Amino acid sequence: MVELLVATENPGKLHEVRAILDVLSVEWLTLRPEWAAALPDEGDDYEANARAKALAGAAASGRVAVGDDSGLEVEALHGAPGPRSARYGGPGLDDAGRNAHLLGALRGVGPDARGARFVCVAAVATPEGGCAVARGECEGAILDAPRGREGFGYDPLFWVRERSCTMAELAPSEKHALSHRGRAFRSLRPEIERLLAAS
Ligand code: IMP
Repeated sequence: MVELLVATENPGKLHEVRAILDVLSVEWLTLRPEWAAALPDEGDDYEANARAKALAGAAASGRVAVGDDSGLEVEALHGAPGPRSARYGGPGLDDAGRNAHLLGALRGVGPDARGARFVCVAAVATPEGGCAVARGECEGAILDAPRGREGFGYDPLFWVRERSCTMAELAPSEKHALSHRGRAFRSLRPEIERLLAAS
């Protein structure tokens, strides 16, 4: 069976990408430590980061690789934390610490000004340097306290407009049906299948 590497060190993302692409008949590979060491430091551009992760994973492993770069954009913060979402609040914070930092940054901001979106750029790359990307978004708002236990990252603070609950209150399959990551990887699926077939 053909192998497909998921080039991420984030366990939440790994789980989601595999679930979203469950329709593919592939043998899933995860990063070995020496492949993870080849992943690049991240810049401030989702697409460049996503391409760099997938290309580095594919080159290091010798397999077709998928990766993504994603983030939360908050209107009242002029689009921050954006591509810096994983590093928001500085090193040493966990998801709960970053959520607390976000709530602090939005203290005093009223409900009408708490609009936000999740963004994901998904990428697939080959060891030979072929690469394709697709983008997905999900609109919502930031609550003033966390709700729900599913998902990861900012999910407990993210109010999903089209479902009237937080992302962390949705079952995984419900999240994938409307999430930025679900939308990006479903759009990318034909390219993933094409590159796997040619590999
Ligand atoms: P990166 O793409 O590895 O730079 O990390 C993106 C960061 O954005 C994650 O570490 C989370 O903090 C946040 N993020 C991305 N996607 C999601 C999601 O689906 N739910 C909650 N937080 C997310």
